[in-house]
Amino acid sequence: MAAAVDEPLLDVEDLRVSFDTIDGPVQAVRGVTFQVGRGRSLGIVGESGSGKSVSTQAILGLLSGAHVSGAARFEGRDLLQMKDSELRKVRGAGIAVVFQDPLTSLHPLHRVGWQIVEVIRAHTDMNKKAARARAVELLDWVGIPSPRERADHYPYQFSGGMRQRVMIAMALALNPRILIADEPTTALDVTVQAQILALIKRIQREFDTALVMITHDLGVITEVTEDVMVMYAGQPVEYASNRTLHYEPHHPYTAGLIECLPRGTSATVSLKPIPGTPPSLLNVPAGCAFHPRCSFAMDLCRTQAPPLRKVAGGAGHQSACWLPTDLVGVGQEASDRRAAAARTPMPVDDGGAER
Ligand code: SF4
Repeated sequence: MAAAVDEPLLDVEDLRVSFDTIDGPVQAVRGVTFQVGRGRSLGIVGESGSGKSVSTQAILGLLSGAHVSGAARFEGRDLLQMKDSELRKVRGAGIAVVFQDPLTSLHPLHRVGWQIVEVIRAHTDMNKKAARARAVELLDWVGIPSPRERADHYPYQFSGGMRQRVMIAMALALNPRILIADEPTTALDVTVQAQILALIKRIQREFDTALVMITHDLGVITEVTEDVMVMYAGQPVEYASNRTLHYEPHHPYTAGLIECLPRGTSATVSLKPIPGTPPSLLNVPAGCAFHPRCSFAMDLCRTQAPPLRKVAGGAGHQSACWLPTDLVGVGQEASDRRAAAARTPMPVDDGGAER
């Protein structure tokens, strides 16, 4: 479970990120804590604006003008306290990132092989010939056909899926200990998405690289990560192993995300969207931020924010919801039990708040 791994490679504690805007401060991330161990994988899932990408960008010092507090220890050193020059060394060699849109990450006027060579030479003393050989080897490894010739092509000469493979080759160039994949398949069709996810799984298997996968799509998380953190309105609302999260979620938001997943054949597929939209981070609702959209909201939910508590789904399972801690599950029967519990005044059991 991501919340309690031995000797974490990345140990993020009470991360908070805000921005000043002309309309007031935006609290984009409010108390995110997670750990990723060597060779482990964590999915961070939530709707757009939940703070999942902002969290990892803040950790890597990629947000200019943001107010960032908390701690983000990578191999024991706090990234938030590092100078830019130190952070640059960590980015790429220690932690590499693959973003959603390779076109914004690849330089359109340079050949892809040259771009990989530049990354290698910026961080190592490898000569040009060796770096070029390594770039071709990486392009081959990620599945670019005729890699020697393709290394001399420009980004526009590749399809979206092939560009994402080039980005992954670049991310692997320095053998990072952690790969952060930020919506890496969102812009791709289903077939290419499956190929990229298979490639990411192969990276984990062959290099023992730790993975942080950020996505709005719980289906993607199902494919590749062991543990999951669900975020809503800038806060973590549930932590669980992948299996627990899918079969025994506690938080109604998580249960709602699972019920949004396509099920059955294409003829019988049924989607059950979560009603409403996420709140503006300029004006987060009092109490539980999810209460305006929650079918089970009680009076308590409108005034008091629920703490993260241990819940019944398994080791490390935590949820920030006032419903009874043993009330887990998806589907109509679990929904009926949640509705019955919400109608019954209950003593608040803190379940052993951990965070
Ligand atoms: Fe719904 Fe209340 Fe739980 Fe929030 S705390 S998810 S409003 S039941």
